[in-house]
Amino acid sequence: MSLLSKVGRNYRTHWAFVFIILVVLLENSTFGLAHDPAKREIATKIFSNLKEPTQIDLGAIGSYAKGCLDGAKQLPFNGPYWQVLHPNRKRNWGHPETIELIKRVSKAANSIGWTGLYIGDISQARGGPMPYGHKSHQMGLDVDIWLTQPKRMGLTQAELKTVKPLSVRSQDKRKTNRNWTKKHMEILKTIALDAAVDRVFITAPAKILMCQQTKGNRSWLQKIRPIGGHHQHFHIRLKCPPSSSLCVPQKPSIPNISQSEDGCDHTLKWWVTTALEPYKKPLKPQKKPKLKKSVLDFTMTDLPKQCLSVIHQN
Ligand SMILES: [Zn+2]
Repeated sequence: MSLLSKVGRNYRTHWAFVFIILVVLLENSTFGLAHDPAKREIATKIFSNLKEPTQIDLGAIGSYAKGCLDGAKQLPFNGPYWQVLHPNRKRNWGHPETIELIKRVSKAANSIGWTGLYIGDISQARGGPMPYGHKSHQMGLDVDIWLTQPKRMGLTQAELKTVKPLSVRSQDKRKTNRNWTKKHMEILKTIALDAAVDRVFITAPAKILMCQQTKGNRSWLQKIRPIGGHHQHFHIRLKCPPSSSLCVPQKPSIPNISQSEDGCDHTLKWWVTTALEPYKKPLKPQKKPKLKKSVLDFTMTDLPKQCLSVIHQN
């Protein structure tokens, strides 16, 4: 065999080997398939199509409304003290600490006298922006819980569809209504006292009532934050878990958020007065505020760069 043909054969073997490696790579991974930056594909579409979590462990990445989740755990649809209300949405994924918290507070709700809790959305299997429903819930550290007292756990799919959300707010949006009970307050207090919880969002009239009725320790009240909507469910936000080094805490932090220790001040009254007045057009023309990009328009470049490896994992 001449030296030339020997070299030629070696090259052919070499290229055949490279080809086999490429085929194996493409078949066994989402390499090159999940995301092509040149296409500027919408992030909600990418994340809502990923139905399985990643197994590596960066945890929560980014911030609550601009992030993703690595190493998610699934909350079982049915538990002894909880039930996921919309199993078809597949938003029962969270940071492992969130799943543990839900189990803890559900059990607490049961010992307070409810059968358990109805759980709304947590996050998608890899977190990220969602095509409908929320701006936040992107890092697996947010969970919605209904204010409806469950009759029992273990409802069938058909029964779940008949569960109606219950509002605890009056028609004029200034007070709570008769659906609000002492047990709501006890459950919210237990949740706010949990060390893993950063804050809890709920309609302002509920917070106002809790401010009026709390005797003794009031420190937990600061974690209960007024917000628009949230009269049929409340929203728990967990702190960045210590192991999630890429998680950005929310600013302002709870100790710096209001003008009093418990948040029971005039800033709270604003929600049930000025905020409800009809919108008046300002006399002077105002500078147009810079429009924030909607979550629905996010591409991967709007998210932390580590989220790219989260969508590319098997
Ligand atoms: Zn929420």
